[in-house]
Amino acid sequence: MHARTIIKGLCAGLCLILLGCSNDNNSETETTQPAFADVDTARIAATSPGTEWLSYGGGYNEQRHSSLTQITTQNVEKLGVAWTYDLATNRGVEATPIVVDGVMYVTSAWSLVYALDAATGKELWVYDPEVDKSVGVKACCDVVNRGVGVYGGKVFVGVIDGRLEALDAETGAVVWSTVTVDQTKPYTITGAPRIVNGLVLIGNGGAELGVRGYISAYSAETGELVWRFYTVPNPNKMPDGAVSDAAFESIGNLTWGDDGAWVTDGGGGTVWDSIVYDHVGDQIIFGVGNGSPWNRTIRDPAGGDNLFLSSIVAVDAKTGTYKWHFQTTPGDNWDYTATQSIILAELPFGEGGTTRRVVMQAPKNSFFYVLDAATGEFISGKPFGPQNWAAGLDENGRPIEIPAARYGTELYAQLPGPHGAHNWHPMAFNPSLKLAYIPAQEIPATYSLDKLWKTKQVKWNTGSDFAGGLAVDVPPGLMQASRASLKGRLIAWDPVTQEARWSVEHDNAWNGGVLSTAGGLIFQGKLAGDFVAYDAATGAKLWTTNLKSGAASGPATFEIDGEQYVTITTGWGTLYALTVGLGYDTPVSPKVGKVVTFKLGGTGTIADIPLPEVERVVKADPFGTPEEQQTGMIHYARNCAVCHGGLGISSGVLPDLRWSDYSGNADAWQAVVAEGVLADQGMVSFSDVLTPEDIEAIRAYVVRQAHNATAQAKAPAPSGN
Ligand code: CA
Repeated sequence: MHARTIIKGLCAGLCLILLGCSNDNNSETETTQPAFADVDTARIAATSPGTEWLSYGGGYNEQRHSSLTQITTQNVEKLGVAWTYDLATNRGVEATPIVVDGVMYVTSAWSLVYALDAATGKELWVYDPEVDKSVGVKACCDVVNRGVGVYGGKVFVGVIDGRLEALDAETGAVVWSTVTVDQTKPYTITGAPRIVNGLVLIGNGGAELGVRGYISAYSAETGELVWRFYTVPNPNKMPDGAVSDAAFESIGNLTWGDDGAWVTDGGGGTVWDSIVYDHVGDQIIFGVGNGSPWNRTIRDPAGGDNLFLSSIVAVDAKTGTYKWHFQTTPGDNWDYTATQSIILAELPFGEGGTTRRVVMQAPKNSFFYVLDAATGEFISGKPFGPQNWAAGLDENGRPIEIPAARYGTELYAQLPGPHGAHNWHPMAFNPSLKLAYIPAQEIPATYSLDKLWKTKQVKWNTGSDFAGGLAVDVPPGLMQASRASLKGRLIAWDPVTQEARWSVEHDNAWNGGVLSTAGGLIFQGKLAGDFVAYDAATGAKLWTTNLKSGAASGPATFEIDGEQYVTITTGWGTLYALTVGLGYDTPVSPKVGKVVTFKLGGTGTIADIPLPEVERVVKADPFGTPEEQQTGMIHYARNCAVCHGGLGISSGVLPDLRWSDYSGNADAWQAVVAEGVLADQGMVSFSDVLTPEDIEAIRAYVVRQAHNATAQAKAPAPSGN
């Protein structure tokens, strides 16, 4: 950390050129400067990502491209483990580590924050926000966290229960804590705060359950709210007294009807991941999520575009005043969020190679968009993966919808499904090769109108029938076959010509975030545990290692004492693992969460993780009529599957109900599901949406699935995994 003063001096010089120093603390004397995380806007803009990794996406442009060149295509095969740190969780880990002044700040499940010596992995402090575990039911996609922000000697974390907290970077002590949401509603925070000129920017999640989205800016110094921009109108279309009021009065309100579920359920539009700072336009550009409920027929029968759902929105960085927007999916109907990685870059266009500063995004809906960063003007858009919901984009970038995709009671088998053609897994961009690297996936879904829909509080609430097309008894091997049909790809995408330069097919759909380096490398993990380095120009696989865990997060790289390190957080969990599983056949997943850091010549190892032995014993004889089991199947699909796994088959992150002792005892089962006796573990009461008869029908279905699995286990094993 002795290098801090030198780096600081360098930054002070560069920042005069890049940004000016008026808003930052470079003029302060050395004695008042914090010893840890002494970061300001100029330093993030000037030095990252090179020797350090100062913000979630590496730097403000969020390209996740490092200028470090020690590790190259020629020597990457010598990469070995420098150190590992045990996060001791079996829940999802999605964080990109921040590295500043020799310290790594990283988060894990339940919003825990860790400070580690970045060269050795030695623990400096751990902060546990001690979240009430009943909040877990509000988390659509596991109790994950994608990382911290650092600024002015503080570490900022968005806590899953809606708090935004500032920690002393040296000690982990809480400096301030602010509740950013109405905690009676199903809001969560999983995204990383970004800090710009003394303002901490944070959004939230919850649009699967029913909330109204917004992004807020808080003072980094005091935690006071400075501005808030809502992404959907106030239900009565009256002003909120927020900076977004003018945008709704002029354009937003007109795109919503006067009734429909959005009025009571919030409308959605959560800003749960991508927030970038464009220093050229001094604007914040953020991605907005899906509608709530998903199904527009239920959400807003008037059938409008529903601004600013599924949009990229730009606002003034100081005031939050609206500047422009581009809506990727007007009238969202499919959970097609536009929250995915937003990357800023300069790209050459036309014969003369005129350079334009652009916004790039590959959102869930499968189109890659290039927009003008100053105005939001649509430059181009093309599908980067297979899709069957739109015939293309018109000249303004508006999708030309295929009518059947706007589903009614007829099932429509669609690509992409709600997992998206690209989800939160960070995309990267190499500014020399001018290629974007997309962690793409091919996960179809069947949508149909939920005929049983009614408003639910703090429960999944999509208006799409999750039981549509399912049968109580599934043929042996169908689950394995359907998993095997899902595809993941790493696509090197040319954003100027809008075509793939190369792509690599993966054996698991849920592939990880991407890191690009000036060493000509692309690093990417996979949920099955491989961590791979590719040649950025050709896609040739140059190095691979087995992390013995899942790897979905964005890797980072940094340099200490002349050595370049590559680091990644690992873990099972995340939405895909909960709902689809990993292909591992384990009733209980072990605590595989880790930080794993590599360097050239590293000789460390990653400890083997034995899978726990769990007896698969059915706890009751089959019971209930076929009709009751069918009813149980429908209620299971609608209420249980998103956490406990499709078709009753858990990935092991949360209990596999087929083998649960509770499944053998009707009274105990009712106590859990109706009365919520396990609420402190996240299993809250479902008595608001399920009758005692429904709950017993679910047990009948689960017990039948246990007997089916036992019978299938005795049959010859199907091929594949
Ligand atoms: Ca969503």
